[in-house]
Amino acid sequence: MSTRLIVFGRQGAGKGTQCVRLALHYGIPHISTGDMLREAVAEGTELGLRAKGLMDAGNLVPDDVMEGIVVERLAKPDAEPGWLLDGYPRTLGQVEAMGRNLGEAFVDLAVNLDVPVDVVTERMVARGRADDTEEGIRRRLELYEEQTAPLLSWFSDQGLLVEVDGVGREDEVFERLVKVVDAALEA
Ligand code: AMP
Repeated sequence: MSTRLIVFGRQGAGKGTQCVRLALHYGIPHISTGDMLREAVAEGTELGLRAKGLMDAGNLVPDDVMEGIVVERLAKPDAEPGWLLDGYPRTLGQVEAMGRNLGEAFVDLAVNLDVPVDVVTERMVARGRADDTEEGIRRRLELYEEQTAPLLSWFSDQGLLVEVDGVGREDEVFERLVKVVDAALEA
């Protein structure tokens, strides 16, 4: 059986750290589109040059660009037994692209790692990443509520969504995640 997971959560919800641990736990690659884009920016590739301005402003990279990156990544041999997508899909267009490229049953489970807005804002200000300017943070959270939060209902309607409370110590949240994911995958 494959383990194909999508993890949702506001930026600053501790999603990246938990996704690394979950991927290790389930023996699947952690595919973070944000990490892939930051790598492209650092390497100065054509994609990186195109994405940098959008990322710095907290805006989204266009769906068609993201589709190419993700399709290529998921086709790699290490993604054969499954994968954990972190930061993708972020728009309804990206969900549709997954259906188009991977078929209707394209995912086994979507997890919403839930951390309230005031908590994530505090955390992001503290971590001080290059795109963590006050304006960048505000814009990313705004886009999350506008574009990404509605996807939760889509996955929920398909019976594919589980909710996990993301507030707490890292280990505690990880244990919660594994428990909920195991139960849902076995069901
Ligand atoms: P993240 O590390 O997931 O917060 O992503 C950092 C930035 O990369 C975002 O603010 C977007 O500019 C861009 N990005 C990452 N994933 C996507 C995606 N699925 N769609 C569009 N833009 C993305």
